[in-house]
Amino acid sequence: MTRELTGLRDVRGVLFDMDGVIYVGTRALPGVQEAIDYLTSTGRTFLFVTNNASKTSAQFVERLAEMDVHVRPEQVLGSAEATAVWLAGQVAHHGWPRGPVIVMGQEGLKFALQQNGFELTTDPHAATYAVAGINFKLTYEELANVSLAIRGGAKYIGTNSDLTYPSERGPLPGAGSILALLTAATGQQPIVIGKPNRGMYEQAMARLNITAGQTLMVGDRYDTDISGAIELGLWTAGVLTGISTRDEFERASPPPDVIAEDLPDLINRLRWADEQ
Ligand SMILES: [Mg+2]
Repeated sequence: MTRELTGLRDVRGVLFDMDGVIYVGTRALPGVQEAIDYLTSTGRTFLFVTNNASKTSAQFVERLAEMDVHVRPEQVLGSAEATAVWLAGQVAHHGWPRGPVIVMGQEGLKFALQQNGFELTTDPHAATYAVAGINFKLTYEELANVSLAIRGGAKYIGTNSDLTYPSERGPLPGAGSILALLTAATGQQPIVIGKPNRGMYEQAMARLNITAGQTLMVGDRYDTDISGAIELGLWTAGVLTGISTRDEFERASPPPDVIAEDLPDLINRLRWADEQ
């Protein structure tokens, strides 16, 4: 309880996973606006962070608005944007070439790469980078070209490694399954940016201009949201509105700092910590 108390009081910014924390399907979960209002009224910042790489920030904002959750595009970070910004950072600060990118992915990923100054190509021989994420319309030809690019020396980067994603029909192949196919075809392992990898959290904290010790990650999945955040020294809260159960959070090693029923429960505990 002491760790929870001091931890929550120190928090200057909160990273919220989206699916299973902010919404389920097309329905917002309770307490989202209240959580945003409380954080804002106590001088804290927040960011929605999602491994979903299919949409642009503007598209996420539209989707959230349909659920009556109102945020600005810069308050949402998807793994497509995180990957593009990360790659631009490698070019700007680590001497990587600003070469053309061959993309296995959708509009969100292509747009993010172009926004960050990268030229796109479909020619495997012209590509300096091969960036792969979810693609609901993938064709064999695209798989062939991206795999030829990687075999030809293009640096292989993945948006996120989620093997499946939930749907009404059951779990469907996710970005991680596409990466697994490309790895099988090329013998190369990708650098992956999305949670639980450090790239995503580092970018989120950089955007909010806060340190790990000032950041709370709120997630519904221990193995993606929480484990990576613990490794980087963030405070963590597991909520029970998505994938992981209370039992799974409690048995995890180490468990999250806070296990909350839902966002209203989490905000009540934050309010209580602030009042001590
Ligand atoms: Mg989730």
